[in-house]
Amino acid sequence: MKIQSEEPMSFKAPQDYLPYVAEWEEKIGAFIEFDPCRAALPESPARRADGGPPRTNLEGLPFAVKDNIAVRGFSLSCGSRLLEQLRAPYTATAVEKLLESGAVPVGKTNQDEFGMGSSTDNSGIKRTNNPWDPERVPGGSSGGSAAAVAAGLVPFALGSDTGGSVRQPAAFCGVVGLKPSYGAVSRYGLVAYASSLEGIGILSDSVRRCREVFGVIRGADPLDQTSRDAPEGAPPLSKPPRAQTIGVLSPEAVARAVAEMVNGETGGSALETAAQAAELEPEVRRAFEAARAGFVKLGYTLNEVELPSLKYGVPAYYTIATAEASANLARFDGVRYGARPEWAENPGDLIDKTREAGFGPEVKLRILLGTFVLRSGFQDRYYLRAQRIRAGIRRDFEALLGDGEYRDGGKPPCDAILLPVFPTRAFGRGAASLSPFAQKAADLYTCCANLAGLPALSFPASVEGGLPAGVQLIGRAFAEGTLLDIAGDWEQEHPAPHPSGYRSFWS
Ligand code: GLN
Repeated sequence: MKIQSEEPMSFKAPQDYLPYVAEWEEKIGAFIEFDPCRAALPESPARRADGGPPRTNLEGLPFAVKDNIAVRGFSLSCGSRLLEQLRAPYTATAVEKLLESGAVPVGKTNQDEFGMGSSTDNSGIKRTNNPWDPERVPGGSSGGSAAAVAAGLVPFALGSDTGGSVRQPAAFCGVVGLKPSYGAVSRYGLVAYASSLEGIGILSDSVRRCREVFGVIRGADPLDQTSRDAPEGAPPLSKPPRAQTIGVLSPEAVARAVAEMVNGETGGSALETAAQAAELEPEVRRAFEAARAGFVKLGYTLNEVELPSLKYGVPAYYTIATAEASANLARFDGVRYGARPEWAENPGDLIDKTREAGFGPEVKLRILLGTFVLRSGFQDRYYLRAQRIRAGIRRDFEALLGDGEYRDGGKPPCDAILLPVFPTRAFGRGAASLSPFAQKAADLYTCCANLAGLPALSFPASVEGGLPAGVQLIGRAFAEGTLLDIAGDWEQEHPAPHPSGYRSFWS
């Protein structure tokens, strides 16, 4: 990929910025497209023609955008060969709001195809490496965005999170990752994978930056009927009431519950793999214990909590996500978007050929799975059961954090819940890596926030064996400010780690 630089850039950067990007890109391949001159900048009140001092904290900052979020004139491949040639005809609301605040989109980042995966290796376009160790994956599906931020190519990036795709790559790369409450950020311009679970999220180099970006992109949007403003009673984004109590979900108890559930069923190797995948590797456990001890030191009260339905989260997530994906991806038929075969016998053949050549194996698997769980006569067995589990998970969280509409008035037992992000640090490629099935089973700590629609924040806890290890906070709906405050306290004592060769261009 060429790092373009013929014209003046759309933002101010030091002379050596582009060479720095080019050098890192060679190693990590975070971007599908990088062009610091292309962004069509709107005439906005934030942009000063006279080049005077910035009026917003984001003015003049470059940012990257996952390639499933539309930025007019840029690629919108979703990591799929089927859409490799597509140019976005319009701009997502979240990006539009960032443009208005003076920030500049400089490129589109690699991802697992349509957001399906945990490594970015499911991209049909290219491979992205982890800036901490190029032999390892950056996580996924927003792996390109996480790698770009971790390497210092941009101070923040947008991603999308359907079951952990912002938080898990953030943890793998040692950056901050926020999955906002469902509906808090408009999905207009985000290519749909599983509409009831997903949202646009933020990957950033600091908690402070994450708050600034979220403050800009959140809010109701007439172009997305599921978007909304925070309900009355929700804590404000800046200076929310001080959080005091953190509920700690014991990863040992969760792994035990998964193992019990697995034994209680038919047994067999796939289920055993699921139980193994739920257990934390020692380095991640150490990071989690360090976070737990660190928050006590910071003056928080920590209580052990339980989420009894969490162990059913992964099967419910994959049932609902694939069901929705099978409907959402039906639009890719070779007629309206993207690649189409040279020749086809009839319209059915056109669709077959387009999908056969355009979709990768993981996407095909999930479409098949989705149509399987929705088969007529079988909905009770899979889809409706998954919806009942979803309701159970939501109730478990509500009992600890309070309801999403702030109707109860009283003080809930916890201000946030502390839990792991993923059972491993960034895994390697090849034989020793996590199998695709184990990767799915390992989503149990992330996918529950999506099933419940709650905000969740992943941030670096420590560096273990040369790789970053993250932890996660889940909060009450629309209490992003509370999560950011708690993580901000942590960050004061434990500033974000950086891979070697990292340079910070942005204050
Ligand atoms: N690992 C999850 C999956 O493969 C996460 C996806 C996402 O959040 N987009 O579905």
